[in-house]
Amino acid sequence: MARYGMVIDLHKCTGCGACALACKTENNTQDYSNGKFYNWANYLTFTTGKFPSTKVVTIPTLCNHCSDAPCVEACPVNPKAMYKSPEGITLHNNDRCIGCQRCITACPYSDKDINAAGVQYSVINYLPSDDYTHKLWRDKTELIPGCTASGDEVAKKAGSIPPNMNEFSDPDYQPVRRNDIVEKCMLCRHRLINNELPYCVVSCPAQARIFGDFDDPNSEVSKLIKMYPAKQLKNNKGEFLAPGETGTRPNVYYIRDYNDAITSVKDEKYPENNRTMEKFIKIYPNPVEFFTNVNCTIPKDGIYSFIIYNSAGQIVETVMENKYLTVGLINFQLDAKKLPSGTYICVLRSKDFVQTENLIVSH
Ligand code: SF4
Ligand code: SF4
Ligand code: SF4
Repeated sequence: MARYGMVIDLHKCTGCGACALACKTENNTQDYSNGKFYNWANYLTFTTGKFPSTKVVTIPTLCNHCSDAPCVEACPVNPKAMYKSPEGITLHNNDRCIGCQRCITACPYSDKDINAAGVQYSVINYLPSDDYTHKLWRDKTELIPGCTASGDEVAKKAGSIPPNMNEFSDPDYQPVRRNDIVEKCMLCRHRLINNELPYCVVSCPAQARIFGDFDDPNSEVSKLIKMYPAKQLKNNKGEFLAPGETGTRPNVYYIRDYNDAITSVKDEKYPENNRTMEKFIKIYPNPVEFFTNVNCTIPKDGIYSFIIYNSAGQIVETVMENKYLTVGLINFQLDAKKLPSGTYICVLRSKDFVQTENLIVSH
């Protein structure tokens, strides 16, 4: 038996949103629609205090894969559509789901309509029967008319929906979802069974998401929650369980919060993950008004793409796609004049490597 989950190091999280984008690319989840927010990996942002003593708080989120999962308890079908794996992952089976949404009502981290509930995210979401499940790939809108391709054009050129098929697929989730069912994070089981980490973990440029087995006392996650005071979310409003409260026994723990005594543990005691902190993408100047230079370190020979996303997760520019590159440096110039002011995420990706860097455009 195991108890898989995650530790999220709030000192390391920069709020870049790469985890949310990575999850969308890995699992082909759809965009926000009518009060439903299909980001299985997401992050809450809000400010605390009063000007001038304010702080910006960012809390990365995902399904907590709770040990006492009320979503499973509430699921009325048999065998249950919402169920626990032997490793403690809360899984969902599309074929068994009847779309009743009782799981959403039962989950303290979910709401049927995030606008109506006044929250920023919902762990479980419903795919309505009267809506396309992957609208982006049918959308004929060009973000920059006459310049960027629409989702519809990309899908047609790729010859399939969705065009971004991944190497592994999950036994319960097909790449194109059915209507009238719910869906949620399954801790990237399709990757775990192929000895790959969840994609939000792999893609976090700050290595703030750490995956592991809490039942293994020697795992990194077990050591971290022993080393630091750790807390768990209570709901999807950004509130944490009070000391002594167990809630649904969530298996996502938060350490090193800037906003309370958790910060009292000194940084030098923290064991860095084995992964390198090397910066593979350098952008200068950044923020930029007109043109900026991009410098990418290619760690090994392979096929690479360099894609720029806006903060809504839409591709605004594909600078390079499936290009064979050898180890070394590549440099190119980006024209930021055509992009509206805002924060963009530049993603350098190959089959087994991904690095991201924020680009701030200010006109
Ligand atoms: S966070 Fe919600 S969906 Fe995930 S296991 Fe807990 S109750 Fe179920
Ligand atoms: S919507 Fe599906 S998973 Fe949720 S309770 Fe109903 S049948 Fe179970
Ligand atoms: S574990 Fe996988 S499915 Fe879950 S939030 Fe992360 S990327 Fe998405």
